[in-house]
Amino acid sequence: DVTVLRLGHRPGRDERMTTHVGLTARALGADRVIMAGSARGRTDTIVDITERFGGPFAVETTEEPKRTIRDFEGRVVHLTMYGEPIQDVVDDVRADHGTGPLLVVVGAEKVPFEVYEHADYNVGVTNQPHSEVASLAVFLDRLFEGRELDREWDDPDRVVVPKATGKKVVEPDDE
Ligand code: SAM
Repeated sequence: DVTVLRLGHRPGRDERMTTHVGLTARALGADRVIMAGSARGRTDTIVDITERFGGPFAVETTEEPKRTIRDFEGRVVHLTMYGEPIQDVVDDVRADHGTGPLLVVVGAEKVPFEVYEHADYNVGVTNQPHSEVASLAVFLDRLFEGRELDREWDDPDRVVVPKATGKKVVEPDDE
């Protein structure tokens, strides 16, 4: 069971980025996103996409992300360019959390030092600065070893039929 926590949303600047953290968490196999602080307003699109394209995927909010991290009953991974290389630690993370809960924390601006301290693993997807969306995608794909790509969705209103060219979207019963 994997939860993604979005920290440090800057109103104005981070609107789409926060939405994309949620959509990427959903599409690439996480079970839940928690939007913290000013990211709490960015839940509508993710709920809407889940209603249209299927679930299960939970969208939650918190005003106390530090408490969410502190009280989390499971392993905590913080994605940061300063962390240990993903390729060195992802097998340990997978073995360590097993089927238990895992919290994956991504930031926007400077992440408070307590997060580095509380995390069981500070993980870098390269040690180069880039994006929370990119680091989340690579982390989830490595964690699930690609299995998330074959995931089935419950109760979609619409399903995309893959095509080499063009777009085909059907209602599930027409498939
Ligand atoms: N400079 C900020 C800091 O000191 O924490 C990070 C800003 S970065 C634009 C926003 C988020 O993207 C980070 O909090 C981290 O979660 C993620 N991120 C960026 N580069 C990363 C990398 N190389 N590996 C893992 N996560 C990364």
